[in-house]
Amino acid sequence: MLTLLFDIDGTLLRTRGAGLAAIRQTMQEMFDISSDLPRVAVHGRTDCGILSDFFEPFGLDLAKHRQAFLATYCGHLHRNLPEYDGNVLPGVIPLLERLSSRNDVTIGLLTGNCERAAQIKIEHFKLKPYFCGLGGFGDHATNRNDVARDALRAVRQRVQSSFDEDRLWVIGDTIDDITCARAINAKSMVVETGGCNAEELGTKNPDVCLKDLSDMDAVLSNWLSDPLV
Ligand SMILES: [Mg+2]
Repeated sequence: MLTLLFDIDGTLLRTRGAGLAAIRQTMQEMFDISSDLPRVAVHGRTDCGILSDFFEPFGLDLAKHRQAFLATYCGHLHRNLPEYDGNVLPGVIPLLERLSSRNDVTIGLLTGNCERAAQIKIEHFKLKPYFCGLGGFGDHATNRNDVARDALRAVRQRVQSSFDEDRLWVIGDTIDDITCARAINAKSMVVETGGCNAEELGTKNPDVCLKDLSDMDAVLSNWLSDPLV
């Protein structure tokens, strides 16, 4: 069994700021905080880790507010997505279509999004039929490597004896995706569609680095010996 764990933002799709806006809206709604928000790096990080950085300057307790914050955030995200000019990235739909037609491939998510936000995003961009809820999510972990470990546990449980640890891949767009792949002994394929270029990504030695996922033969040749079947 080939197992492919996809990152969402910058790899499958782009939301063009809908998520960050939802965080700001939630800070305003829950804590009446709208100014002096810190500049927080979001690429490659988990929702829990991002929240922790937003909360820290205001002395807000992550453990106390995390659950309610994420629920409110998801409501805003859901409303924001249609208003932002997001898109599915090149090659993603034909690739997922091809992969989902095979019974020797398991597709899951390995994302820093909390589980509900991940579902909202893939539903909005009509990618939901390709994913079955399998994966690792950023609800609790501030470190992406822990999300990868969650995803691996879920995969092992799902595919059981068909799991082949030599055929486990993480597909992402940041150096954190490469690092977390390594944390679970997976191979990594990274694309330049999330803002990191090949040079930056190359510093962490991914197994494969591509401009995007649009050259299906180039993508599949890494994973399958009979890609046309
Ligand atoms: Mg990403």
